[in-house]
Amino acid sequence: MKIICIGRNYIDHAKEMNSPVPTSPVIFMKPETALIPKNHPFHYPLFTKDLHYETELVVRINKNGKHIEERFAHKYYSEIGIGIDFTARDIQSDLKEKGLPWEKAKAWDHSAPIAEKFIKVKDIEDLNNISFTLLKNGEKVQEGNSKDMIFSIDHLIAEISKYFMLKIGDLIFTGTPAGVGSVKIGDHLEAYIEDLSMLQFKIN
Ligand code: MG
Repeated sequence: MKIICIGRNYIDHAKEMNSPVPTSPVIFMKPETALIPKNHPFHYPLFTKDLHYETELVVRINKNGKHIEERFAHKYYSEIGIGIDFTARDIQSDLKEKGLPWEKAKAWDHSAPIAEKFIKVKDIEDLNNISFTLLKNGEKVQEGNSKDMIFSIDHLIAEISKYFMLKIGDLIFTGTPAGVGSVKIGDHLEAYIEDLSMLQFKIN
């Protein structure tokens, strides 16, 4: 399986990064090894001094497809979850400056913790109005809503599948809202969809 991530899908986040608002989705990938094995602790990586959380709604693909039209995209997923697109911000800034690819900043082992449980789309009232939040040490640091996505889930699936065949089990990280920030060893993160606590773990 593969993990496809969308950069700058919320205007307020693009602004906080001093990045232009994209006119088509910014796409990058993480390998399967970016997931964390069940019950495995999260460790602060040795190669960064500025590890940032980015909380994102995650779509799990449930049907293989290529060149999917936007109007049929809803047939290719039935569950929404939440995850953290961990980013070594110091490394990313350096790579961006040099015009180099982002993998060392974004795609390393365990850089994509996700909630074990997903929510069925049929149990979600409005896909374009899903609120989600991240608490750091009990304090709200990120608050997003799918209604603020620049590109909707269905649009993302159409765009991604022009380039990459989507396969059952693939995950799409749909972008982070504003409020990204750093973590340190000992911090506790907890991510919510609406008022459901979906993912909680400590930085070791
Ligand atoms: Mg991200």
